Amino acid sequence: MKRIYLDYAATTPTHPEVVKAMLPYFTESFGNPSSIHACGREAQTAIEQARTKVADLINARHDEIVFTGGGSEADNFALEGVAFANESKGNHIITSAIEHHAVIETCRFLEKRGFNITYLPVDGYGRVDPDDVQGAITNQTILVSVMHANNEIGTIEPIREISRITKEAGVLFHTDAVQTAGHLPINVTELGVDLLSMSAHKLYGPKGVGALYIRKGIRLIPLIHGGEQERGRRASTENVTGIVGFGRAAGIAREEMAGEAQRLTALRDKLIHGLQEQIGSLHLNGHPVNRLPNNVNVSFAFIEGESICLTLDQENICSSTGSACSSASQEPSHVLLAIGLSPELARGSLRLTLGKWTTEEEISHVLKGLPRIITKLRAISPLSTREE
Ligand SMILES: *Cc1c(COP(=O)(O)O)cnc(C)c1O
Repeated sequence: MKRIYLDYAATTPTHPEVVKAMLPYFTESFGNPSSIHACGREAQTAIEQARTKVADLINARHDEIVFTGGGSEADNFALEGVAFANESKGNHIITSAIEHHAVIETCRFLEKRGFNITYLPVDGYGRVDPDDVQGAITNQTILVSVMHANNEIGTIEPIREISRITKEAGVLFHTDAVQTAGHLPINVTELGVDLLSMSAHKLYGPKGVGALYIRKGIRLIPLIHGGEQERGRRASTENVTGIVGFGRAAGIAREEMAGEAQRLTALRDKLIHGLQEQIGSLHLNGHPVNRLPNNVNVSFAFIEGESICLTLDQENICSSTGSACSSASQEPSHVLLAIGLSPELARGSLRLTLGKWTTEEEISHVLKGLPRIITKLRAISPLSTREE
């Protein structure tokens, strides 16, 4: 059996059309966009065309997009940029307990620099209650950061409802949309967000490039100092090939997103229901309906997610337990603990994320193989004797 890749939330393969679009910018059009000669101008033009495509993906203006070195940098830039630009106004930031490490760790860093951070709890599905945001705002609050959809459990957050509250309070609102950009329709005006993070490699673009949408008129302190690139907001010679690839990926996503979301939702539900029918003591993590079209996250009582993941790997199936970032650590995922799972169930979690090259046959193959693996692992598990 060919390898089955079900870890699209960790990263996606680069679309062949994206690779094709990037290639000329390694060789013929290799110029530095800051150079005034033809070679530089060509690269500059390519960047601006890509910027328009990325802006169009989220209904932003061309000059509201700043390219970064990935989704993590976009998150760091949003939080630190706002925090240090608004120190005189206040020192309070509100976020959620289930954010990506790029947001959580930036908040921890800011805490050491004198900022107060409120980590809002979530309900059993992983949803932030907008009323909690309202209740946490003080006259010191300068920023709210709540992700658009969670990378581990796929739950989609009530961003529009939260933005009504932040707007009313005159507080800036950032959302990490790394898991939704290119997968779900995004209109920054309708969503009501001021800042929004994206990453190319989560939408069939290359790794090491992302973008931060910054609503016109908002001032941020730059993270990277040096030249005047990105209108003085992010120094360093632009990653031209990466940016061109991001632009092409954004263009393709815009065309294919609606059809893909529908196709993946059907496959996702087939997988979830198939597992629920065949495996006892199985728990679906995240919201049953309000979740990413490609996300399946389940916990199996009595066994370790890592054992399932490794056994699947031996059968040439790529999966994840928790998120890619936390799989190296022994701690159960902060997201699964925040939705109220016991540490045992949190450790028994398996994430399967689908994408453009996932087929119905692959899902059927997993539905045949996984119940057998679970039965085998439970039979040798010392925890399973507790069942009866
Ligand atoms: C992957 C991911 C990031 C980090 O993006 P990189 O481009 O890998 O730095 C941030 N937030 C979420 C929700 C993600 O899934």
